[in-house]
Amino acid sequence: MSKNGKLYVFTGPSGTGKGTILSQVLKQDKRLFLSVSATTRAPREGETHGKHYYFLDKQTFEDKINKGEFLEHAQYIGNYYGTLEQPVNEQLKSGNDVVLEIEVQGAMQIHEKRPDAVMIFVAPPSIEELERRLIGRGTENAEKIAARMKTAEEELKQSDKFDYIIVNDDLDCAIADLLAILRAERCRNSKL
Ligand code: 5GP
Repeated sequence: MSKNGKLYVFTGPSGTGKGTILSQVLKQDKRLFLSVSATTRAPREGETHGKHYYFLDKQTFEDKINKGEFLEHAQYIGNYYGTLEQPVNEQLKSGNDVVLEIEVQGAMQIHEKRPDAVMIFVAPPSIEELERRLIGRGTENAEKIAARMKTAEEELKQSDKFDYIIVNDDLDCAIADLLAILRAERCRNSKL
């Protein structure tokens, strides 16, 4: 009998470098697949539909909520973000591991629904450093950065609910940490 893949939740405040860590780890770990989320946020320059996100309008997103198509979904700074359940289940059934790069409210929904999911939180070295990175990234205006910082402070309070915490002080160390977590989880003597 083939074994199902494992579900990983990769969470942390916007600007902590979740995306950068994951993109490097995905290049090195061929058994791990990133779930493509849906969002009502407008695409940033260089983002493409189906690769970075499924960019949906509000009505389409809400229809999918009502039809129960999301494994989790949340509102984050005025936009919807969500994980479509079917593609995740298909990957897991085929034995691949799946990682969700999502914010904390969605992560907590997964924790409830899929208690076997491995919960990983990426924290910035400090709140000041987080702000500096968000400003440096240049993808949001001052008002949006302020909103993301406020949300980040709330999100950091939830970090104790996670199985693992990676402090992204040094990118190479953070990448090594995530690879080590994946490796250890694959050696786990699962009781399930
Ligand atoms: P961004 O607008 O910077 O792409 O994403 C904003 C936040 O939404 C980030 O913390 C990102 O991880 C999170 N996010 C992305 N996709 C999803 C999703 O499918 N569900 C949830 N709950 N959050 C998501």
